[in-house]
Amino acid sequence: AAKNEANASVVLFSRDLLNSRQVRSVLAAELQAAISNDEMVLYYQPVVALKTGELVGVEALVRWQHPRRGLLMPDEFIDLAEEIGAMAPLAVWVLQTALAQLRRWRETVVLDPRFSVQVNISATQLQRPELLDDVQRILSEEGIEPANLVLEITEYSMVTGNEWDLYSFRGLRQLGVGLAIDDFGTGYSSISYLRTLPVDGVKLDKSLLSSDIAAPAEREFIAAILQLVKSCSLAATFEGIETGEQAAMLAALGCDSGQGYYFSRPVPAPGINAALVASLLEVPWRAAWPSVPE
Ligand code: C2E
Ligand code: MG
Ligand code: MG
Ligand code: MG
Repeated sequence: AAKNEANASVVLFSRDLLNSRQVRSVLAAELQAAISNDEMVLYYQPVVALKTGELVGVEALVRWQHPRRGLLMPDEFIDLAEEIGAMAPLAVWVLQTALAQLRRWRETVVLDPRFSVQVNISATQLQRPELLDDVQRILSEEGIEPANLVLEITEYSMVTGNEWDLYSFRGLRQLGVGLAIDDFGTGYSSISYLRTLPVDGVKLDKSLLSSDIAAPAEREFIAAILQLVKSCSLAATFEGIETGEQAAMLAALGCDSGQGYYFSRPVPAPGINAALVASLLEVPWRAAWPSVPE
C-alpha cells in the first residue's frame, strides 16, 4: 500500500506539472493569436497634478480579455509574451492603440495640450533597434506630437547597461518623446540612474508609501526621496496613492503628480470622460489642505 501511495503521489505530482506546462503552452499559443483576435484591451489610469487636481495624462495598462479565463492582468502574461517572442507585436499594438485613443479623446473631450499618454516599454523592446522607427511611424500616423507620449521604463531594464538601451534612450529623446523611470525605489543601485540616464521624470513606486503617512519619520523619508529626484531636475510622479492624506502630504512636499486608487482605478477608455476630468478637479483634499504652496 505504501508503495502504491508513493507511486500515486509521484503520478499526481508529475500530472500537476504536466498540467501547468500544458496550461502554459496552451496560453502561449493563445497569446500568439490574441492580438489578431482583438482580445487585448488597454485600461487607462488618470495621472493628476497634485497641486491643482488637474488631469495631466493617463497611463495605459494592458489587459488580456481571455475568452474563457476572464480578464488577465499583465503580471499573468507579460513574462510569457517575452518568453515566446510575442512582446514586439504586443508593444506595437499598445503604442498604436494608446495613440489612436489619444487622437479620439482630442476629438471628443477638451484636453490640455500637454496631456500625455504614458506607455510601459519592456527591457527587450528598448533593446530593439526598430523601436525608434515604430514610435516615429505611429506618432505621425496618429498625428500626435512626440511630447504627448511618455515611455515608462522599469529600472530592471537598465541594469544590463546594454548599449542599445542608451541608443534607444538618446534616439527617443532626440525625437522629443518623454521618458520616465518606472517603479523607482524597487530596484537595485537605482539612485545612479537619476543622474546617468537621459530621462525627464521618475515614477516613484507605491511600496515607498506607507499607510502611516502622518508619522514624522515617514514624512521625512518621502521628503528626502523627492528632494533627491528634484536635485536631478526630474519631474516626480507618485504611484499607488490610495488616501487623501497621502495625496495632501505629497502635494505639500512638492511632488508634481500622482496616480492611484484614491483618484481612480485604471478604467477602459470610455471611463476617461468629461465627468472624470471634472471630478478630479474637485478632489476633496485640496479644500482640507489650503497650505499647499502655489
Ligand atoms: P506599473 O507600470 O508600475 O503600473 C502601475 C500598477 O499599479 C498597475 O498594475 C496599476 O493598476 C497599479 N495601481 C495603480 N494605482 C494603484 C493603487 O493605488 N494601489 C495599488 N495597490 N496598485 C495600484 P497593473 O495594471 O496590474 O500593471 C502591472 C505592471 O505590468 C505595470 O506596472 C507594468 O510594469 C506592466 N505593464 C502594464 N501594461 C504594460 C504594457 O503595455 N507593456 C509592458 N511592457 N508592461 C506593462
Ligand atoms: Mg508604468
Ligand atoms: Mg510602476
Ligand atoms: Mg511595473
